[in-house]
Amino acid sequence: MLAYTPEAYERWKTAYPELSDQIGLIAVLQMAQKSVLVTPIETPCTLETADIQHALASGSSLAVVDTPPLSDARWASVLTEIVGTVVDHFPTEEGTHLLIQLQNGKVDVPILMLDVLDQNLEPIREVADDLEVEPETLTFYGSAALLPVLSAYAQSVDQQLLQENWLQGYCPICGREPLFSLPGDSTRSLFCNQCHTQWRYPPCQCAFCRDVTAHAFVEEPETGIEVEVCHTCKRFLRQVSDEQLAEIDPALLDLLTAAASVHVGTLGFH
Ligand SMILES: [Zn+2]
Ligand SMILES: [Zn+2]
Repeated sequence: MLAYTPEAYERWKTAYPELSDQIGLIAVLQMAQKSVLVTPIETPCTLETADIQHALASGSSLAVVDTPPLSDARWASVLTEIVGTVVDHFPTEEGTHLLIQLQNGKVDVPILMLDVLDQNLEPIREVADDLEVEPETLTFYGSAALLPVLSAYAQSVDQQLLQENWLQGYCPICGREPLFSLPGDSTRSLFCNQCHTQWRYPPCQCAFCRDVTAHAFVEEPETGIEVEVCHTCKRFLRQVSDEQLAEIDPALLDLLTAAASVHVGTLGFH
C-alpha cells in the first residue's frame, strides 16, 4: 500500500486550503488502513505459479478468482476498525448508525466485502436497505477496508509473474479500471486505486476498448495536466508521473487533477 507521513497531509492542507476537509478525511483513512496492517493479513495468495499464469493468461484478476482467504472475524474487524476510525474523526449520523450495527453483528461482513470486491451493486443495495444506510456509504467503507487487504494480497504475488503475464486494461489483482496512466520512456503503466497495483500496458492503446487508431492526448490548459483520450469509446485517462504518485496520496492526486476530467468532459469524453 502506498503510504505517506502524517506531516505530508498537514503540508498538503496548507498548500491546498480549499481541499482541507477532504485531505483530512484522506489522512484519517490512510491512518486507519495502515493500522489494519499492523496485524499482518494472515493468508496471502495461495495460488500455485501455474494457476497464477493460467488465471492471468485467461484475463482473470487474481483476487476475484482466488478470494483473499481472510477469516470471517478478520473481515469484520477490518471493516469495523475502518468505520470506527472515520466516525471518531468525522462523526455522522449514518456512520455512527453503521458502526453500531457492525458492533452488534448485524452485518454479514465477509459476504458484503466479497460483493464490494466483485462490484455486485444489487446485493450491496439490498444490504444497505436492510441497514438503513445509503449504498454509497457501504461501498465507500467497503472499498476503504478492501484496500489494505488487497494491497497485502497483491504484494504476496510474484511481481515478475504479474508483469510478464498481464496486458489487460483492468487491474490484474482486483479487476478495477485504472485511475491513472503513468507514462514511461517507451512503455507505460496503469495504476489501480483500489489496491495500489501498477501494471504495464501498451503506450498508445486505449485501456478501455483496446483501440490503437483513435488515441490522442489533450492538455488541460490551466493545470497543464495531460489526459489520454480515445475517440472510439470516448473514455479518458489522466496521466500522472511516478514521482507525483510517490509524493502525493492518489486520492489527493485524484482531486488535484479533477479539473482535467472536467475539461475533457466538456469535450465529450467520460
Ligand atoms: Zn486493483
Ligand atoms: Zn477506447
